[in-house]
Amino acid sequence: MGVNHTTPDAACPECGHAQELRPLVTGGWIRLDTQTVPATEVTDTRLRWYLTADGFAVAGRGSGDDCYLEHRQVCSRRRHPAHLDPIFTYVWGRNRGIDGRHVED
Ligand SMILES: [Zn+2]
Repeated sequence: MGVNHTTPDAACPECGHAQELRPLVTGGWIRLDTQTVPATEVTDTRLRWYLTADGFAVAGRGSGDDCYLEHRQVCSRRRHPAHLDPIFTYVWGRNRGIDGRHVED
């Protein structure tokens, strides 16, 4: 049962940039930001996303030094994720830069 990760839906409907669209073991899909971050930067383990060997996204139950962030939390078109760890602000700011938007906007 192959899963197509290059479906057009991988693009975020808000910023238009392609993301890692992955199935959830609980059903449904999640868009993960394409660049991983050091897992230690994400203090809430429920916000650390990992990929299983067969391509599913799971939160908080992975191994390895790096994890994914849910794209929704760092999308350039979303508000500054000030309530989350600084790594979220960092990735959000980077996405804003990719989008040609100033962080102050
Ligand atoms: Zn987006």
